[in-house]
Order: sequence, then C-alpha cells, then structure tokens
Amino acid sequence: MPISLPDLPYAKGDLAPHISANTLDFHYGKHHKAYVDKTNAAIAGQPLDDASLEDIVRASAGKDQGLFNNAAQVWNHTFYWNSMAPNGGGAPTGDVADAINGTFGGYDAFRQAFADAGATQFGSGWAWLVAKDGKLEVRKTLNAETPLTDKSCTPLLTMDVWEHAYYLDYQNKRPDYIGAFLDNLVNWDFANANLKNA
Ligand code: MN
Repeated sequence: MPISLPDLPYAKGDLAPHISANTLDFHYGKHHKAYVDKTNAAIAGQPLDDASLEDIVRASAGKDQGLFNNAAQVWNHTFYWNSMAPNGGGAPTGDVADAINGTFGGYDAFRQAFADAGATQFGSGWAWLVAKDGKLEVRKTLNAETPLTDKSCTPLLTMDVWEHAYYLDYQNKRPDYIGAFLDNLVNWDFANANLKNA
C-alpha cells in the first residue's frame, strides 16, 4: 500500500511572514511530495510494500541508501510541519518547559544550543530536540539522517535547515530563518505531546 502525503496541519499562508506560502508551495507541494512519490516507486512490488513509513525508514537505514533517503525525508518533513504552528515559538509551556529547565538550565541556553545546531549543520540537514533517559538533547543530522532510527530516544521537535526550507524567504541568511522558527513558529504543544510518549 503506498504511503501518502499527509495534509499540512495549517493553511499554506498561515506561517507568513516567517515562512511564506510560496515556500510551502515548493517545500511541501514539490519537495515533500517528490520524496513520497520516490518512496512509493521504490517499494512497489517489494517486500516493504505494505510496511509503515516508520518501518520502511528503519529497515532501509544502512542497507538501501536510496530508499532510506526518500523515506526518511518523508517522515522528517511531516514531523517538521507539525513542529510549527501559527503564532508559535518563544518560551515553552508544560512538561517540556520543565525538561528544558532541567537539562539546559533555562530557555535561553536551550535556544542558543538549538540555534547553534541549526547554524553549524554544514550543508543540508536538520536540528532536533530529543528526549533520552529522562533528559533532553539537541542534535543535528546530515541530509536525511533522523533520530527515528535511534530507538533509545524520542524526537520532540525538528527544524529543516536544507536551503530549500528558507532560501525563497531569507536567501543565504540561515540564522534569520532559525531565529524566526524559534521565536514565532515552534509548536510546543507538539513537543509536549511527543514528550508524553518518551
Ligand atoms: Mn525540506
């Protein structure tokens, strides 16, 4: 059964002016859709044809780089859309606020660590907040690499730092995009929901 392209959790214009509808037209409508189509082409008639997306990502990791790249990018992008919300960002609330204070000593230190991870990921990749062993960690991954393949942790949030995520709105100014993500877009309700399953 083919995997599907999930609907965006908001309208394409709802993240503006921080991320434009034009960016989402390309990023969701072209890039994310292409990862879905290429994954489906790769699994058609193959043993993973009926597998869940998560199982496809885990089964292909380290074994079938072409399939892994596309399937992981499908999962990462869906997780990224849900990591953002209109009027999001700023200091967290709920259990994740307590966890951030416990791990990083406060929101400002977390914000710096997450922004640094995104800014220093050379080339294409992702910045993540994950829960592991009752603490939180900021990580960065290259290209399609994803903490989904690390069963010892639970992803809470991600930020896409591939150029296609920000170039139409920010050109080369990746730090400006990162600042807008942190201050105006982070969906802390999503992070809290993920933390409950950690
Ligand atoms: Mn992307």
